[in-house]
Amino acid sequence: MKLLEGKKALIFGLANQRSIAWGIAQAFHEHGAELGFSYAVPQLERRVMPLAEQLGVNFVEICDVTKDEDVTAVFHKATDHFGNIDILIHAIAFAERQDLEGRFLNTSRSGFATALNVSVYSLVALSRAAKPLMASGGSILTLSYYGAEKVVPHYNVMGVAKAALEASTRYLAADLGPDGIRVNAISAGPIKTLSAAGVAGFRKMLGYVEERAPLRRNIDQDEVGKSALWLCSDLASGVTGEVVYVDAGYHILGMPEPPEKWE
Ligand code: NAD
Repeated sequence: MKLLEGKKALIFGLANQRSIAWGIAQAFHEHGAELGFSYAVPQLERRVMPLAEQLGVNFVEICDVTKDEDVTAVFHKATDHFGNIDILIHAIAFAERQDLEGRFLNTSRSGFATALNVSVYSLVALSRAAKPLMASGGSILTLSYYGAEKVVPHYNVMGVAKAALEASTRYLAADLGPDGIRVNAISAGPIKTLSAAGVAGFRKMLGYVEERAPLRRNIDQDEVGKSALWLCSDLASGVTGEVVYVDAGYHILGMPEPPEKWE
């Protein structure tokens, strides 16, 4: 059974074949959705176009989410192309590299503003722009990380941004619920992607999770894609404002057992 037959999904945040957005795109495509892609900067075009071709996607538009005119333009084009959409995927985050290493205390005012503008306000801006295209309801999904709730080394300002993103998910869910639009987040475990590479010590994080998570492994883009498929399909029609963990169970641990067993 195809879960998204006849549905149209606009996916923001595709950078390359490692992107979580790509895992989601593949799962949606496999389940019959018609897709549109948006990417951030001209340099990504040569990476995104072959991926679009692979899935037969012919709506591929550039959009820097910090620019209101870009957001307006991409949704104008989406209206012309799709008429309406059913699903919006927000898989976007950014912080300056110097704010993802060293002490949180040293986060600059501009670094703080940049991280929250790109990674959080963009969800509000894209949701507002998508609403007129979701006149008969829809589903919006964003991507978070456990650093929103608990301190993770070097995640720093991005942890603060993810906390604000999860709060924004709840406020948007309450605001858009009466319009039949659901808003949820997936809190994914660490996955090696372009963005993740910006977090100092990221490889160590992967090893730490692999040794301690209940499933004793990391997760991958396909697993996020499968949960996104559930959340954005009618199977999750009663679910909104939630943060769903796809993290091999890591977040349930209060005191992870170290690899060498305690006796
Ligand atoms: P990625 O680098 O593939 O994707 C991040 C995307 O954000 C890129 O496509 C980038 O171009 C886009 N972006 C940055 N600034 C932008 C702007 N101004 N305008 C438009 N787009 C912009 O990495 P990813 O890991 O797939 O990240 C996707 C989402 O998943 C992010 O929100 C990230 O925080 C979240 N996440 C990642 C992990 C992980 O370990 N990789 C874990 C949990 C959550």
